[in-house]
Amino acid sequence: MSRANELYQQVILDHNKNPRNYRVLEGSPLVCDGHNPLCGDHITVFLNVGPDRTIQDAAFQGNGCAISKASASMMTAFLKGKPVEEARRAFQEFHDMVTGEMDPETRENHLGKLVLFKGVREYSSRIKCASLAWHAMMGALDKQGTATTEA
Ligand code: ZN
Repeated sequence: MSRANELYQQVILDHNKNPRNYRVLEGSPLVCDGHNPLCGDHITVFLNVGPDRTIQDAAFQGNGCAISKASASMMTAFLKGKPVEEARRAFQEFHDMVTGEMDPETRENHLGKLVLFKGVREYSSRIKCASLAWHAMMGALDKQGTATTEA
């Protein structure tokens, strides 16, 4: 196993065991229930967006495989403090990376630690697990109550 793959496995296991931001947001957050029928993952994403269009807080709840939970955990940590436009750009970059359209090693991107998830490209059935939380995030921003990876 390569070093990158080993790191990927470790991070997934750690975030699955100790998910960050695993809670319900109080107040009147933007909420979206995400569903990945292929694997059975359900992830609900909560966002609080301030008047300056910055994501002040992000959280999630749900049930799913290790990859879907680890991805939601890392995504919510990534989103805090980010302007909404940067969150939308990150969705596109993450999507292009996991589907193999963008190689983060050769193309400039803003994903930071999230580039670890490029490992899922080798497991096509896992791509939707990794991107589920991101679809739910976009659904929340667009005030859609539900989102699915089958769009
Ligand atoms: Zn899954």
